[in-house]
Amino acid sequence: MTTTTHAPVRRLRGPSGNADGISFRPWQNLDSGGGWRSLWVQQALEAEGEITPHVLQGPAHADVAIVGGGFTGLWTALRLRELDPSLKIAIVEADLCGTGASGRNGGAVSHWWGKLPTLTKLLGDEDGVALVRASSAAIDGIIDFIEAEGIDCVLPRTLGLWSATSDVQVGAWERVLATAERLELQVPYRRMREAELREIFPRGPFRAALSDDSVRRVQPAALARGLRRVALARGIEVYERSPVVRVESLLNGVRVETEQGEISAAKVVLAANAWMAHLKPFRPSIMVVSSDVVATEQVSPELIAATGLDRVGGFNSRMMVNYFAASRGRIFVGGGGGTLATLGKIGREFSYSPSKAAEIASDMRYLFPALGDTRIEHAWAGPIDRSPNGLPWFDTYPGDPRIHYGIGYAGHGVGATALAGKIIAAQLLGIDDEFADYGRMFLRTRTGAFPREPARTIGGRLVRQAVRRKEMAENAGHTPRKLDVRLAKLAPATLADSKSSRAPKPAA
Ligand SMILES: Cc1cc2nc3c(=O)[nH]c(=O)nc-3n(C[C@H](O)[C@H](O)[C@H](O)COP(=O)(O)OP(=O)(O)OC[C@H]3O[C@@H](n4cnc5c(N)ncnc54)[C@H](O)[C@@H]3O)c2cc1C
Repeated sequence: MTTTTHAPVRRLRGPSGNADGISFRPWQNLDSGGGWRSLWVQQALEAEGEITPHVLQGPAHADVAIVGGGFTGLWTALRLRELDPSLKIAIVEADLCGTGASGRNGGAVSHWWGKLPTLTKLLGDEDGVALVRASSAAIDGIIDFIEAEGIDCVLPRTLGLWSATSDVQVGAWERVLATAERLELQVPYRRMREAELREIFPRGPFRAALSDDSVRRVQPAALARGLRRVALARGIEVYERSPVVRVESLLNGVRVETEQGEISAAKVVLAANAWMAHLKPFRPSIMVVSSDVVATEQVSPELIAATGLDRVGGFNSRMMVNYFAASRGRIFVGGGGGTLATLGKIGREFSYSPSKAAEIASDMRYLFPALGDTRIEHAWAGPIDRSPNGLPWFDTYPGDPRIHYGIGYAGHGVGATALAGKIIAAQLLGIDDEFADYGRMFLRTRTGAFPREPARTIGGRLVRQAVRRKEMAENAGHTPRKLDVRLAKLAPATLADSKSSRAPKPAA
């Protein structure tokens, strides 16, 4: 691939009106406003010591410029380097690499077995199963890479748990198991016996569960910062604190303009996740919702053992799914379906929301009564790029086939982004390998759209409140109100094809 020259402004006209460029919202610098970093980012940055971000200033050139330095951007850059060592690759990150969703998440490196019914329905049995298998293989690939590069981020192995924490959640996984049985597939799940579950959780609301020994767990910000270190060592330029303002299609290349500089590139990858949901092509099928997390103070190994989280980590089958684990001497619980972004705007509450943190803190004490009055020391949030069926897709931007993107992981991207890197790299370099096949399959999974604004936000808030009331009633063993049950059915798909998570109807 040849490097383009930084020249003349002859714009390409595309069907999406891309002639005016892709304009990003002004970057909101939370640090300067007393903003919040996740505990994981704080730990990872402290371990690095002094941080000296390389800010993009003035003009630069690259064969490929990648907007966003989270897992998608970093894995894509590393895969491109692997496939073509001669490429000049630049990552342009608004903040520090790994401070987006990639450094704030639950750290579960998992697969799409939980989406088996949806995938086989949308793609047919053969392709649906191929994608599920590819997602499992991605877990091993990630762990092998981490070990080979000496990235200190893998947490001690525990059993993954897909659990029911109220009576109505019991059996949420039956559709998945029935589909696997029909297809005679060996699943990574095992039904836990009641005695086994009681032994792990002598107290608390765990009613039933599947265990999963294929899931791995990482300190996610340490992984992201480790990927950045490897990228730098492999000659990839990494610009940080360099928010991209505009991406403009020119006849002889694509210009990526930041606050203080610009890159002329032959090709561009948009990997800004929820922060690009406001762009016109993504608006109909990406809804941004926060996921909120709380973590305890440092606790004793005995207390962790009393919660059961020395042996398991996982999630329950609520629509506003709770996920939980122990990490380096603390216990954390997260909850999905928090704040809804109006018009895709990622405000402060996507870094920290006191009201959502309070909800998750009460979920934590409900799930793990052994914690007693253990202090909650950290709370943060992050944005989730939710697609209608909970699946991502990878494509070129309307109007310019030189601009690629990946979006729509729906809170399930720690493992999926490594696969995404391979898919996007294959698409960008025009390599027709198995990953290009997976890319085509993901495109075939695209279904439906969310309602337009303002109905989306108004309706979304109503549905969220109804889901919360319904699930609180279920936790308390009460019958939820009929209206709440009906409204809750409109909630979009969650992590897995559980009976309590339903895909939305396509918008009229
Ligand atoms: C609280 C939470 C819990 C989660 N738990 C899990 C889990 O346990 N397991 C799992 O598989 N998935 C989980 N996820 C989802 C997972 O974290 C994401 O799917 C994944 O990190 C997406 O990676 P990404 O690189 O696409 O996005 P991000 O990591 O968000 O990266 C996008 C980057 O783009 C940058 N950016 C934005 N705008 C600009 C701009 N204008 N210019 C330059 N850069 C820009 C951002 O700063 C950011 O660093 C969770 C997500 C959250 C928020």
